[in-house]
Amino acid sequence: MFENLQEKLQRTFKNLRGQGTITDENISEALREIRLALLESDVNLTVVKATIDHIREKAIGTQVATALSPTEQIIKIVHDELVEILGKDTAKFKFSSQPPSVILMAGLQGSGKTTTAGKLAAWLKKGGHRPMLVSVDVYRPAAREQLAIVAKSVGAQIYIGKTGDDEAGTPLVERLAKEALREARNFGNDVLIVDTAGRLGIDTALMDEMSKLKALLNPSEILFVADAMTGQDAVNSADAFHKQLGITGVVLTKMDGDARGGAALSIRNVTGAPVKFLGTGEKPDAFEPFHPDRIVSRIMG
Ligand code: GDP
Repeated sequence: MFENLQEKLQRTFKNLRGQGTITDENISEALREIRLALLESDVNLTVVKATIDHIREKAIGTQVATALSPTEQIIKIVHDELVEILGKDTAKFKFSSQPPSVILMAGLQGSGKTTTAGKLAAWLKKGGHRPMLVSVDVYRPAAREQLAIVAKSVGAQIYIGKTGDDEAGTPLVERLAKEALREARNFGNDVLIVDTAGRLGIDTALMDEMSKLKALLNPSEILFVADAMTGQDAVNSADAFHKQLGITGVVLTKMDGDARGGAALSIRNVTGAPVKFLGTGEKPDAFEPFHPDRIVSRIMG
């Protein structure tokens, strides 16, 4: 079994009790443990460095209270620091004042975009909304078919539309997006969730397409879907998508796996965009609004 961060710190601080104050010397081993734990949890190096500096600043000079163990004090400092980075409260989901609100799903292939689109529809339905789904992935018929299955399983409406060739002046992707928006308006759907084509990596064609969709649909949310298991890669692609599109939130999927979730911290720190939801399984209801506190507890073990 791995020793979790709390246990490691307990061990490190065993001899500290009753020593008076926390000093640069007696905290260095603890900081080393915290640094390792954060790196093992996929928190990126820049974030780790800044966090460690902050923790050192806050901790040094702290009186080691006789009643409270120094470990508990340090753990509280680390905990508060990580929650601070993640943003204290659960970020709100944004709707536009003029329905339908458009939610643009962004992310790499395999990140869980289509599954998440369905989960989001189910979550919105529970909240009394009438979401419509559309896939503008014109490159992979299987992806559109998958969204249709997902839509059926959660009982959400879907716009299928006709595919075919690009027409003069209007690429197929844009035509589908426009038609779906019109359809949502006509049917009184207050939210349109747009599942987009993913690629294996970032490429300019994908980014151009996403930018065009953004301009066309004026989405209230651009949600970047990231696979928590991919750690540092998720952070890099979030950064690339954010630079091009200005993402408004992040969904971290596959949190039912053994990823500690440090990617949440790094993505938040690198993009400034809050993590809004976690995916915790393959089923439509394995989805929850993000609470910074829970991830921090998970990172700290
Ligand atoms: P897309 O290519 O980004 O649209 O990804 P998919 O939605 O097709 O998901 C890729 C795979 O990841 C599928 O097998 C999904 O069932 C699975 N998946 C998606 N979200 C989660 C999650 O939160 N937990 C787990 N365990 N699997 C997930």
